[in-house]
Amino acid sequence: MSVRLHDTLSGATRPLIPMRDDRVGVYSCGPTVYGPAHIGNFRSFLFADLLVRSLRWRGFAVRWVMNITDIDDKIIKGAATAGVTIGELTDRFLDRFLADADALRMTRPDVLPRATDHIDQIVNLIATLLAGGQAYRTDDGSIFFRIASWPAYGRLARLDPEQLRVGERVEADEYAKDDVRDFALWKAAKPGEPSWSTSIGEGRPGWHVECSAMSMAHLGPSFDIHTGGVDLIFPHHEDEIAQSEAATGQPFVGTWMHCAHLQMGGAKMAKSVGNIARVGDLLDGGVSSRALRYALIAVHYRATLNHSDESLAAAAAALDRIDTFVAALTAYRQPGPEDPSLPELLERARAGFEAALDDDLNVSAGLAAVFDLIRQVNRRIEARHLSTDDAGRVLATLRDIDQVLGVLPDGDDALSSDLQSLVDERAQARIDRDWAASDRLREELAARGIAVEDTRDGQRWRRVEEVARG
Ligand SMILES: [Zn+2]
Repeated sequence: MSVRLHDTLSGATRPLIPMRDDRVGVYSCGPTVYGPAHIGNFRSFLFADLLVRSLRWRGFAVRWVMNITDIDDKIIKGAATAGVTIGELTDRFLDRFLADADALRMTRPDVLPRATDHIDQIVNLIATLLAGGQAYRTDDGSIFFRIASWPAYGRLARLDPEQLRVGERVEADEYAKDDVRDFALWKAAKPGEPSWSTSIGEGRPGWHVECSAMSMAHLGPSFDIHTGGVDLIFPHHEDEIAQSEAATGQPFVGTWMHCAHLQMGGAKMAKSVGNIARVGDLLDGGVSSRALRYALIAVHYRATLNHSDESLAAAAAALDRIDTFVAALTAYRQPGPEDPSLPELLERARAGFEAALDDDLNVSAGLAAVFDLIRQVNRRIEARHLSTDDAGRVLATLRDIDQVLGVLPDGDDALSSDLQSLVDERAQARIDRDWAASDRLREELAARGIAVEDTRDGQRWRRVEEVARG
């Protein structure tokens, strides 16, 4: 079996054949750090996280790059409104983004390049395009990409090049363009705006060129996978292809992967629509970060996902089944004999999960394999058909699969020492038949997020909810 991924450019689902032996290069369009990201943004970031985790799990060495856009019109406006410098604004919201990403257990990308740290690479790319005649300078010193020089323009978005950008709002400062379809590579310096003094003039980079320059700086002129939300296909990714391939003469990206929209209340989640939910607000409101992660990754990335209280409740219920199962396995005590059918059951679950993820990240089929395993093992637990060692093997298989999913409870094998002493105290209270103390300790543990249950294997505990991020 091989990993098969859907490529937006060809429209085909094809085996992933890495361009280089040593690693798979993955570039994801990251956040513009002028405000807190909403969960629609995070759906796309977590899709990339699932992709990277799954490729690593399948044995590929992956280098994952996600850019940080730290200079653009919205940032300049946001800093002016807040009365802070651009650096202060972008540092603040980069920290916020990383905190949200950590809460949602997003793998930290290997490189998080910032646009303002790559002005030299951006300038070199634009200079190459100017020299090749694919870019031109306007009277005010701005530089545009000449779409007419690039006949393949529109292939990714399947657009007729003649019809492009008709009706798109033409900004006053762009009237000087040769062709209304052309896009800005470099914006001439304006009073009160940040700018860099460079060999191509005084100004700042456009947004599209930043991703071409940074992806090629960190992954080379051709790399394996580029991800983003579907709303980035046009014009952002179309522009990235044109300016990169025009500059290098090489194919830019092997596989283009795009994540569908997140909807809320029947419309695409967008700042402009006003129907946005932010990670921090949801967590502060008591939503578990694991449930939010689960809700955002459990639907196939190319299907529209509807966010609602019901979808969060369904995710929490699914996690509760997993947590209960993990707690049961952890507490399970039964001296032999081992279940002879277990190795095959575990292998089938692992292979089923692997085959599902190999099929263009079919995570819902992968989760179905996990829940099938849970059902089958629960039957064996009820019938006491497992040994303690068997229970450990099941847990090991779950933990293996969770390297991709990232949803299992943290540290269920170890409590902090103060919580552990409460649990021990309660066990002693039950031995002493001191039911009042036992009940009081149960309540104290519950208040700290630990539910205890009394089973024939003794007292069993599990975490019921994560503490919301303050
Ligand atoms: Zn980008």
